Amino acid sequence: MDIGFIGLGKMGLPMARRLIEVKHQLIVFDTRQEAIDQLVKLGAQAATSPKDVADRTETVMASLPSLKASLEVATGKDGVIEGKKVKRFVDLSTVGSQMAVKIHDILQKRNIVQIDSPVSGGVTGAEKGTLAVMVSGPKADYEAVKPALDVIGKVFLISTKPGAGQTMKLANNFLSATAMVATSEAVVMGVKSGLDPKVMIDVINAGSGMNTASRDKFPRSVLPRSFDFGFATGLMVKDVRLAVEEMRSLGLSMEVAEAVGRLWEAVIRDQGPESDFTAAIKPIEKAAGVVVGGKGGVMGK
Ligand code: NAD
Repeated sequence: MDIGFIGLGKMGLPMARRLIEVKHQLIVFDTRQEAIDQLVKLGAQAATSPKDVADRTETVMASLPSLKASLEVATGKDGVIEGKKVKRFVDLSTVGSQMAVKIHDILQKRNIVQIDSPVSGGVTGAEKGTLAVMVSGPKADYEAVKPALDVIGKVFLISTKPGAGQTMKLANNFLSATAMVATSEAVVMGVKSGLDPKVMIDVINAGSGMNTASRDKFPRSVLPRSFDFGFATGLMVKDVRLAVEEMRSLGLSMEVAEAVGRLWEAVIRDQGPESDFTAAIKPIEKAAGVVVGGKGGVMGK
């Protein structure tokens, strides 16, 4: 089928590439020309704006870095909303349920269906097509886009209610954010008292403390100190803030979430929004006066 794809970054590019590989015809747009060029080389057609994409396809997907970008691309000037052919806007970005509902309501007035479809599983999941895809939207449109979404991962219909996929995604990313900082604190504690962090991670992964940070992030990006997992601190802090807001808007008091939120605010202050989110360990190390990992995975003090 013809699919529009807007936002060809760390996640969008490999997702779009997979869709091309299974012979969907892609019409792509990004504010970075080099990202468009990369996909054109693989067989996509270039568009000049979100409106241009939406003039040429019924289904427009987007993977964008901020709430503002999703709102503008969907509903702004030269946005998807102005397209002649578009029937549905599938937002693969994490924007929180309130923004998803806002975009849904604006698009509905033009008879465009918004399908919430945030994803989890990182760049590796996007490359391999093993993402968890959390969809909310009308059943008929879900059925129309499911064959394409199957190419990028395992698809779950969360609900037909707008924004529900986002609530699911925030619950997931709150856990991922918590695992990253909690594992950092645990390993820094061990290193401070003289344990080898590589041994610690091996033990944790063979034991009940195992989590996505100890299983994936520490071996690949923290112990070798490459800090290159592929998810920006700014994006993680966006998700943590959205999760805390979502809990507050439901009238919940969440003590773990508040503490995790404070830790991530310290990470973004210290490391900046462009840093890789695995750098979350650095302010915790600094406060403890230790460095975890490095050459041979052995700690320095
Ligand atoms: P990214 O910053 O690498 O990519 C975003 C892309 O959007 C860039 O290519 C940028 O040039 C483009 N863009 C920005 N504004 C635009 C606009 N107005 N019009 C067109 N293009 C525009 O971000 P990413 O890591 O790919 O993340 C995208 C979304 O996926 C975010 O919502 C993020 O929270 C979510 N996500 C990311 C990961 C991950 O591991 N990176 C995992 C799951 C979900």
